[in-house]
Amino acid sequence: MTINDYNFAGKKAIVRVDFNVPLQDGKITDDTRIRGALPTLKHILEGGGALIIMSHMGKPKGKVKPELSLGQIKDEVAKALGVAEVKFAPDCAKAQEAAAELKMGEVLLLENLRYYPEEEGKPVGVEKGTPEFDEAKKAMKESQKEFAKTLASYADCYVMDAFGTAHRKHASTAVIADYFDADNKMLGFLMEKEVQAVDNVLSNIKRPFVAIMGGSKVSSKIGIIENLLGKVDKLILCGGMTYTFAKAHGGEIGQSIVELDKIDVALNVEKMAKENGVELVLGVDSVCCTGYDFGNFCVKEGAKIETFPSNAIPAEFEGLDAGPLSREKFAKAIEGAKTILWNGPAGCFECDDFTAGSKAIGDAIAKATAEGAFSLIGGGDSVACCTKFGLTDKVSYISTGGGALLEAIEGKVLPGVAAIKG
Ligand code: AMP
Repeated sequence: MTINDYNFAGKKAIVRVDFNVPLQDGKITDDTRIRGALPTLKHILEGGGALIIMSHMGKPKGKVKPELSLGQIKDEVAKALGVAEVKFAPDCAKAQEAAAELKMGEVLLLENLRYYPEEEGKPVGVEKGTPEFDEAKKAMKESQKEFAKTLASYADCYVMDAFGTAHRKHASTAVIADYFDADNKMLGFLMEKEVQAVDNVLSNIKRPFVAIMGGSKVSSKIGIIENLLGKVDKLILCGGMTYTFAKAHGGEIGQSIVELDKIDVALNVEKMAKENGVELVLGVDSVCCTGYDFGNFCVKEGAKIETFPSNAIPAEFEGLDAGPLSREKFAKAIEGAKTILWNGPAGCFECDDFTAGSKAIGDAIAKATAEGAFSLIGGGDSVACCTKFGLTDKVSYISTGGGALLEAIEGKVLPGVAAIKG
């Protein structure tokens, strides 16, 4: 079933969205994710249905945390949807009555799904690797099914539109689908768009294909990096991982972030790149600082900022952004690309002193896109970069997914998609 073919008239639809929006003092600071879900939600209302919206927010880890209550955003959701009121169910697993009373055209928002450990399905209070863990895991799987069944009981049909969590087999993203027949479950518009964007990259690669991977660590990206080495023509590795590569060749990296246990991984990436004929592009110089406050994203008073070769950083300095030579190298590597994937910033872009690397990459991607490339940007931080640099309209597609996008690019079938499509 597709959302376009389904007749929502007289139907209650339970929709899994990703309303995991950033909040500051209870106010939404970026509503991209809410806007992303609107086409699906409005389509259902306009089609004569009633909406039961469910999402997680943050990581309450199975506990009630008022600061992560979705109740805080219900008025914003009403405003975005253009409805007078969004009703709120303060306990997502006890919303039978509220759901039963819901009339067509009305909207009910369920409380944070992750207040229940059953949503993620991870056993609580037992340590991994212990004999009790396997038992607890089995028991949790059973209660996860019950939880999913309860959610399903609220509605006539299920719509999965949370791409950001589609790589997780959670109660609301996948397990719930078992309680609807094939004619009453479907992907939402956002999911369809995201899956299509990945398909554009994978099934129809126009070359050269350039991927840019940044962020803080090699370890969190190694799966996708190794996978991309079999697909891309050039791979730019930037951000904090620069220093694990520099260290692997005996470089002096001062206080820069490094994963000493991943040195062999870095060397292996270089070897694989060579074997696959992939041009590996690493930064050669870095903008460094003697005192960066990671908590407040600012340079501490009196701290010095200087540029050094990435393999000759003085002991008291820390590499925090790509230097001018690296920026030029990255921009050149992106020039002429026909397919581009960007995940992860080239520096601590949250602070204005260290944005230049990410901006150079963003600008180069925008230029290549204007010249006909298909550019796909994913992951919260790269998306934030595009917003910060005013590039959102200058790239082909900005994904709402980080982990989900990377897993899809790796060619893995996302549980959230498999649950609907089989
Ligand atoms: P990730 O979650 O791995 O994609 O990493 C994103 C984070 O990496 C951002 O918050 C950046 O500030 C940070 N980052 C980028 N470059 C560096 C660097 N050279 N040193 C430390 N952190 C960095």
